[in-house]
Amino acid sequence: MKHNFGAGPCILPQVVFKEAAEAIVDFNGLSILEISHRSPEFVAVMEEAQSLVKKALNVPDGYSVLFLQGGASLGFTIASLNMMRDTKKAGYINTGAWAKGAIGEAKAVGIDVNVFASSEDNNFGHIPKGYTVPTDVDYIHYTSNNTIFGTQFHAIPETSLPLVCDMSSDIFSKPVDVSKFDIIYAGAQKNLGPAGATLFIVKDSILGKSTSEFMPKYLNLKNHADKGSMLNTPPVFSVYAAMLNLRDLVANGGVEAVEVRNQAKAEALYSEIDNNPSFKGTVPVEDRSNMNITFLLNDEADKDAFDKLWNNAEIVGLKGHRSVGGYRASMYNALTIESVQVLTSVMSELTRSKG
Ligand code: PMP
Repeated sequence: MKHNFGAGPCILPQVVFKEAAEAIVDFNGLSILEISHRSPEFVAVMEEAQSLVKKALNVPDGYSVLFLQGGASLGFTIASLNMMRDTKKAGYINTGAWAKGAIGEAKAVGIDVNVFASSEDNNFGHIPKGYTVPTDVDYIHYTSNNTIFGTQFHAIPETSLPLVCDMSSDIFSKPVDVSKFDIIYAGAQKNLGPAGATLFIVKDSILGKSTSEFMPKYLNLKNHADKGSMLNTPPVFSVYAAMLNLRDLVANGGVEAVEVRNQAKAEALYSEIDNNPSFKGTVPVEDRSNMNITFLLNDEADKDAFDKLWNNAEIVGLKGHRSVGGYRASMYNALTIESVQVLTSVMSELTRSKG
């Protein structure tokens, strides 16, 4: 059994793999891959998935839950198009590659982007603070967890304007006050399910209010909400597996319980990084992510020895992103504390072996 610290697509609960695999062979006498998305069986899956999202995140009335395609990358475009209003301006916080991607796509649809906070001058090694949120824009956008750089917002930015968030890499890892947001979007392939679906949680009152002249049918969230997320063929298998995963999450105490487990895992690894003289973290304590933990060797000469140790321990997916270097341990919901302990023990082993 391998310990999967990959950044996404990533580990999901074993029971989800098993049940999803069974449904590929037999889902009410057909394969889940061959059923019609209009069949009563799949309509029931979609409705259960939507209601489990609402249950898990305590989504208030007045929001729609949609499973679209295109990934969070198309979400950048969809969010900006649907939030464009009279000023055609938006405020963005730039916390790394994905935030930059969102900024680029907003500009591409004609939005005048005000990047009012950024950590680019520090290679995105912290979460910006002390900024002034603009008030002369249509909406504010931020990325709650920066998958590549290992930083995470631990508070929601204060604003009275509509708020949009890319939660791709920390959704369902902890409770979130959905009522503060107008659009939350997330690629499925971290804590939700297999790649292929993109989750949107949208305040109904924003639907159909865009001032954009360019609005292809698929990119208008109102069309999806009006059709119960069945405007066209949804990513059937991905929605089914996400539904299984959400069932498992809710049955095991929901996001409240998983947050406690995620904190314990993150504390175990950060404490090893901070106390082991061979390693150092890359992010100040208050901005550290509980999902993606980035760290470096203090002495690059240890690289071969450390790489050998973790590879021998059946750890996979630990290599850092090229823009940060070093290592990145992604510790999504389904990664067990035992896997984290395997990692911390090889880190200790490296230091012991040096005498
Ligand atoms: N935003 C964040 C925070 C991400 O981590 C990722 C992918 N890892 C993306 C956006 C892009 O997602 P997708 O590949 O689904 O387009």
